[in-house]
Amino acid sequence: MLIDHSIKELSNLLKKKEISSVDLVKESYSRIEEFDLKLHSFITIKDKTIALKEAEEKDKNIKNNSSIVYGLPFAVKDAYVTKDLRTTAGSKILNDYYSPYNATVVEKIAKAGAILIGKNNMDNWGHGASNENTNYQIPHNPWDMERITGGSSGGSAVAVSTRMVPFAIGEDTGGSIRNPSSMCDISGLKVTYGRVSRYGAIAYASSLDTVGPMAKSVEDLSYLLEIMAGYDDHDSTSSTQKVENYHKYLEKSIKGKVIGLPKEFFGAGLDPEIKKTVLTAIKIFEKLGAKIQEVSLPHFVYGVSIYYLIALSETSSNLGRYDSFRYGDKRELFSNESIRRILLGTYALSAGYADKLYKKAQKLRTILIQEYETALKTCDVLLGPVTPSLPSKIGEMISDPVKNLLEDLYTGTVNLIGAPALAIPAGFSEENLPIGFQVVGKKFGEGELFQFGYLYQQETDWHKKLPPIIQNVKD
Ligand code: GLN
Repeated sequence: MLIDHSIKELSNLLKKKEISSVDLVKESYSRIEEFDLKLHSFITIKDKTIALKEAEEKDKNIKNNSSIVYGLPFAVKDAYVTKDLRTTAGSKILNDYYSPYNATVVEKIAKAGAILIGKNNMDNWGHGASNENTNYQIPHNPWDMERITGGSSGGSAVAVSTRMVPFAIGEDTGGSIRNPSSMCDISGLKVTYGRVSRYGAIAYASSLDTVGPMAKSVEDLSYLLEIMAGYDDHDSTSSTQKVENYHKYLEKSIKGKVIGLPKEFFGAGLDPEIKKTVLTAIKIFEKLGAKIQEVSLPHFVYGVSIYYLIALSETSSNLGRYDSFRYGDKRELFSNESIRRILLGTYALSAGYADKLYKKAQKLRTILIQEYETALKTCDVLLGPVTPSLPSKIGEMISDPVKNLLEDLYTGTVNLIGAPALAIPAGFSEENLPIGFQVVGKKFGEGELFQFGYLYQQETDWHKKLPPIIQNVKD
């Protein structure tokens, strides 16, 4: 299996001509053909003959190209607009939508020579934590076909976990990269707000949306961020802060660094198996020389409420453009979950309630930012679980909207404060379900997160495990 190699290894093999881009693209499609009818990780797949033609072109020009992703196939969450493939955002409202341009992130990766092969399944508009809120077929977790993939970037997590592609691009507004990464045993990065351009990302909640990579390892993520990050004229919220050589952080020691454990991250509601796994991961960091310190975020208890008041207010405004005149098919096609969100958001913004709800949430957001900043003054990073529960059975979450909201307990506040967070595999439950943890850093501290994550992955091999469904695949 070629796609099990790291991005760096694949790139070296391609440059030495030991493998070809055509080999990789063929492997991608053969895996998709074998598994995706059951897994539903893609909404739209590029015509194979077109992708193979692109790969042949790459093989001819490989000598003149040094980019590490040159000739590699990849997939993107269907939240990013693409010129030649339809973009649905997981909703039938955009079932036939073709964008006249590519999202900046797609453009950058394609310019670096990677080959887009398809658009991944997602909760529509990013609304969800289980991927059950898609208007297409619900994706299945490759570790247990009866369970959810996590969401909303569930399709991308499945595609990477089953090695259909070496990497994918997800989107994280309140946990949507970290949650499915953790539930499908892959590595995912939520970037600092503004680190990667949002141009061409279908907006869910504009002050929280971030564009990030999902891959098999932290090493791969570090190389991908170097390509994706940077200022973009088309997105005034993208940062001019210099893009670093993130892979240079790999292998730097973390001796003496301080990891903060917010005590609110380990309280009631956390699944005991997840708690145990995260505490075990902490021991590895201690062994690597890090110091552990307990911290407190007193307003964390309001986190989910603040997150949802702000996210839903913003989404009620953003989704106003799908009125069947400017964009999209008829509004009756909005899912129940999205209708609920539009109604709540409109209510929170309406005259007479805005002060009590939306403005209050904004004030509390500022308090949370200050609390995180204080914690990150005494600590280099914070560490905690990604989700409070293991992947549930398909059907459970969608019938329990509150459980769905609580999935964002540990992830949503990180988006409110705009900091980066890295989710990495940390083990499995008794029922062999993946469990991850997240490391939260200082703004623009992605390099430091890679440092922690990479060293952890040198000590463990959780990220190398393959889901049962593909264990015996021969290519
Ligand atoms: N589960 C969260 C929500 O539904 C986060 C979704 C996301 O990050 N796009 O809002």
